[in-house]
Amino acid sequence: MAINDGISAELRRRLYAVFPEEGEASLLADQVAGLLARQKESWPALDAGCAALKAVRVREICGDGLAVKVQFNPQRIVSMSAPVDPESIRRRPCFLCPENLPVEQRAILYRGEYLILCNPAPIFPGHLTIVHIRHLPQSLPDYLGIFLRLAEDFGPRMTVFYNGPHCGASAPDHLHFQAVAAGFMPVEEEVRDLRNRARVLRRNGVTICRTEGLGRGALVIVGENEAGVTAAVGEILRELGRLTESAFEPMLNVLCTHTGEFWRLILFPRLKHRPDAYFREGEASLLVSPGAVDMGGLLITSREEDFRAMNPELVRGIFRETAFDDAKIDALLDLL
Ligand SMILES: [Zn+2]
Repeated sequence: MAINDGISAELRRRLYAVFPEEGEASLLADQVAGLLARQKESWPALDAGCAALKAVRVREICGDGLAVKVQFNPQRIVSMSAPVDPESIRRRPCFLCPENLPVEQRAILYRGEYLILCNPAPIFPGHLTIVHIRHLPQSLPDYLGIFLRLAEDFGPRMTVFYNGPHCGASAPDHLHFQAVAAGFMPVEEEVRDLRNRARVLRRNGVTICRTEGLGRGALVIVGENEAGVTAAVGEILRELGRLTESAFEPMLNVLCTHTGEFWRLILFPRLKHRPDAYFREGEASLLVSPGAVDMGGLLITSREEDFRAMNPELVRGIFRETAFDDAKIDALLDLL
């Protein structure tokens, strides 16, 4: 049976490529480059989104151990102001379901069940969204295997990331991941520096440690054996769920890269999605809606006043309110 049997004619019409191919296999990264080039020609909204990305402004905010960037990206306002309460979600048509995608959008069918799509409001060059072909809720514990597989198939030049349903996903009701070129988020470089790491645990060939002094806490999980990495992440999710008394999946964002030899995951446990200032009015309001990218050290703003207002104190406050600090990560490590 061919890999794309069993999918609808409507979906088939959208397919640019299928991964893995039968016979002579292309690299996923090459297929993605082809998709992006083709879509820029055939989909004006994507071309406009990529052009707008070239015009975004970026500022560095450093000091007292903090080294992050702030991006002013007006086209992200739709995603950042998306209502994510259950009632609003129930009433809107799902924008990730294949039948609701823009008519020009094309896809790579990935392993028979997912579509790799170009993001028309990119934060990074080549920003991709990977969506399940069916309307299933966002969940990492149930789909950790495919998340790791995606990172491996994309290879070391890409970082795949996941936003939990209550901490950054603008479609918590539809399973999706995102992927971007590796190295755009400051934390990816920071975790390579051993001075930024502490509390190393080793088990089943997997190394788990935490970051140190980055203004928000993260776990770094490194391993080359899929079963070992899956078991370690599963245990972390279970203990994090217990620690935070989560009825469902604990709040988190995860970045993942496969170096060609091993996986490296950077996992940010979260306290809440949006800081209180998000909901204030007037001058006290701050439209930041942190997800994996913001935790990774690239804070996205879509209003110029927020972009200008950002300073180390404000960034520390956002992290303090929405993310674990190093002490809370230690409490989690104590349970492992
Ligand atoms: Zn959907």
